Amino acid sequence: MSNSTNLTPKIGIMGGTFDPIHYGHLVGAEGVRDEVGLDQVIFVPTGRPPHKPGLNITNPWDRYLMTVLATASNDYFQVSSIEVERPGYSYTVDTVQSVIKMYPGTEIYFITGADAVLDILTWKNVELLLSICHIVAVTRPNYELDKLWEKLKNVLSFPQDRILSMEVPALAISSTDIRKRVHEGRTIKYLLPEPVEHYIAKHKLYKN
Ligand code: ATP
Ligand code: MG
Repeated sequence: MSNSTNLTPKIGIMGGTFDPIHYGHLVGAEGVRDEVGLDQVIFVPTGRPPHKPGLNITNPWDRYLMTVLATASNDYFQVSSIEVERPGYSYTVDTVQSVIKMYPGTEIYFITGADAVLDILTWKNVELLLSICHIVAVTRPNYELDKLWEKLKNVLSFPQDRILSMEVPALAISSTDIRKRVHEGRTIKYLLPEPVEHYIAKHKLYKN
């Protein structure tokens, strides 16, 4: 692994429920890869997201396989099953530590949507997390990053420069909307890669 501007390899981690993965996730990850000069981006579908307890979430292996299908055509993208295989809730800090163990001597960038980063103060062990990786918040329609800086300024005891924000072409696509569309029998064409669309139809996901 190498990149032209920095000798330390840089790895991006894109975490998400990916229920299902869509172009918002892919455009965000690719935008950060290009801008930061990442050597690769590892997509990590969550096992059991702690912030979505009790919600009816699709089987982790279906979400994992859809993520594999969606990322297959990008040489920089990989998918990891670490969270899917880890029992219990999935916490970002544990995942980042696992990736560091697998790739020692790399710089880690955790990529997340601006909506998710607004909750960062509720994440498990956030100070440790920020001491071992950078966080990149990609803008998402209707979320203002300014609010985040305001919130963090007052409580921050960790290095603020560890959190970067990045504008990517804003796509108003969400998994919630895609699930709703499938349920209502409406089209999901062009919101997500075609192989994922076929997977959803073949396995009759989101029908009930
Ligand atoms: P749901 O509607 O079920 O919450 P989602 O579309 O938000 O799904 P997640 O799997 O929850 O997808 O999101 C994974 C990560 O991708 C989060 O950090 C989220 O903020 C980000 N993300 C999701 N959709 C977009 C988008 N359209 N543009 C930029 N970032 C996005
Ligand atoms: Mg979400």
